[in-house]
Amino acid sequence: MAVRTVAPSAELAEILDSAEVAALVSELDALRWTGRKGYGARALVGACLVKSLYAIPTWTRVAALIAEHEALQAVLGGSPSHWACYRFATKLREQRPLLDACLAGIVSELRDRLPEYGQDVAVDASDLPAYANGQRFLSRNGPERERFSDPDASWGHRSAVSTRKGGGFYGYKLSAAVCAHTGLPVAWRVETARAHESSLADDLLQRVREHVQPETVALDKGYDVSIAYEACERIGAAPIIPLRQTPFVKRGHHLAPKCEHGTWTFAGSDSKRGASKWRCPTGECSPKSTWIKASRLHPLIPRETKRWGDLYRGRASVEREFGRLKNQYGLAPLRVRGLAKVALHADLTMLARLSQALARARAVPLAA
Ligand SMILES: [Zn+2]
Repeated sequence: MAVRTVAPSAELAEILDSAEVAALVSELDALRWTGRKGYGARALVGACLVKSLYAIPTWTRVAALIAEHEALQAVLGGSPSHWACYRFATKLREQRPLLDACLAGIVSELRDRLPEYGQDVAVDASDLPAYANGQRFLSRNGPERERFSDPDASWGHRSAVSTRKGGGFYGYKLSAAVCAHTGLPVAWRVETARAHESSLADDLLQRVREHVQPETVALDKGYDVSIAYEACERIGAAPIIPLRQTPFVKRGHHLAPKCEHGTWTFAGSDSKRGASKWRCPTGECSPKSTWIKASRLHPLIPRETKRWGDLYRGRASVEREFGRLKNQYGLAPLRVRGLAKVALHADLTMLARLSQALARARAVPLAA
């Protein structure tokens, strides 16, 4: 595929000129926020995009970068101060419905442009360490901490990834559903780190269903609990989740049926019926086949099939995307405190990620 070379400022202009982002800008302008002489919403939404696209952690450095680059100022129509950016972020938190509508519009355009987007999704949660200290004691053997600078942050657990050890962390958790084919986020939510991932899956999948109808949802072993299976069933998607060694599994209740002729073979599933069909290997049994109702032990896509293995490998897409969002789009490290601010930071990161993906998808002519 030909690589499109576009200057970063030209790409920023494409994003700001897109129908979805331009609509957000004009709606924000219509609110007439700026009491004192300020900047238009285009410059300030543009500054938010610069922050994520250049992975800059602070507004001070965003403002400095724009002030130094005439090409950026030309696209933004100004060079907002870091105070203007702070004030804008504060006001934007009160206008979440406008931002939500903009993000929803971008997601639905991505679905129309990229036919594979959202067909199979992978769900996981990732740690967002707080911009605060959560240690209980101020120093070794010192007094207990009485004031926490981030009252919404809490202690949670993260699993080991690659060479990094698992363990406790203090802060927030980003749960996301990512398209296994395009690697793009479909839905996400931010919670304090203490929140249980598996119980968030239902709300997250409901948000997925507002935009796309996935056929399958891949999750890791941590989600091998009934609420995660029910959440998948509720949106009509087949769960792809490995089994934990529970007593039923130890007793072999998850295995394929057997008879004197051998182990029965999988003969397809009927999602409407919510069951999978299994056949006697020689067909000598009567009846020759049987339906098994879908459950944690016998999912619609059986774990012994190649398709299950392929889809489970697709789960890596969500981990890769967390890495991309943190390293290339400045999702981490956090430089804000409080759940509402952290959630806005995540949404603005997603706005940059998805609006850029949409601009790139539009630059490629649709296949005839
Ligand atoms: Zn048989």
